[in-house]
Amino acid sequence: MPIAPLATYDSPSAAKALADHAILNEFYGLLPREPRRTPMRELISTVLSHRTTHDDEELAYDRMLEAFGDWAGVEAAPTTALAHAIRTTRWPDTQAPRIQEILRRIKAEAGDYTLDFLADWPTNKALAWLTDMPGIGLKTASLVLLFNFRKPLLPVDTHVHRVAQRVGMIGPKVSADKAHTVLLALLPADAEALFNFHKHNYWLGQHICFFTKPNCPACPLKSFCNYYLEHYGPADAAALAATPKKWEGKKQH
Ligand code: SF4
Repeated sequence: MPIAPLATYDSPSAAKALADHAILNEFYGLLPREPRRTPMRELISTVLSHRTTHDDEELAYDRMLEAFGDWAGVEAAPTTALAHAIRTTRWPDTQAPRIQEILRRIKAEAGDYTLDFLADWPTNKALAWLTDMPGIGLKTASLVLLFNFRKPLLPVDTHVHRVAQRVGMIGPKVSADKAHTVLLALLPADAEALFNFHKHNYWLGQHICFFTKPNCPACPLKSFCNYYLEHYGPADAAALAATPKKWEGKKQH
């Protein structure tokens, strides 16, 4: 969508969100929204990933299915054995019964271990159904519904939340949960745009806007970022000219 100059928007937050979106589309390049995993795998892997590295999450997922064969096997397994199989995750004793309850509910709703029925559900109904399950919050539910079913939702993880706060798209006291609705209201209600906004700000948080010591001189958002203004003053011509126009490094999953 065409992006108007910052000053033409009534809300500075909306202006910043749209400017962030336009600039990072250029910086990282537009991504096609292709599901990276099946809906079932996306959901269960995201549950396993809580406070766990990507490699440990994948190891837990693989060991779980190696040990019990399929989703029916995982649901029927002794819970302690399931916890042992997913022991590389942060809280295996909590996650094991949650995963079994999630599988029970999916089977009860769909008659099988599939989430495909969500494609036909209205967005809010699908979101409410998923977030009613143990261990599934707004971030996980939004991610599955956006990535796999093209629902116009925005997953807000710790990176997206941090960038949005520092830039000033959301206020400093807006929680990550609350940010899901606040940011969504500022952005186009379009799955492709929301997917790119999520991925790009996630990457910016990983590559540049670090939790400690953000690399502001290398950041393409510096001209309108509250944190930059507070720590460096207004971005002058030299600072803007020194900013890379494209990300040349690696992009993670
Ligand atoms: S200018 Fe600094 S604080 Fe602002 S988004 Fe970029 S890296 Fe983060």
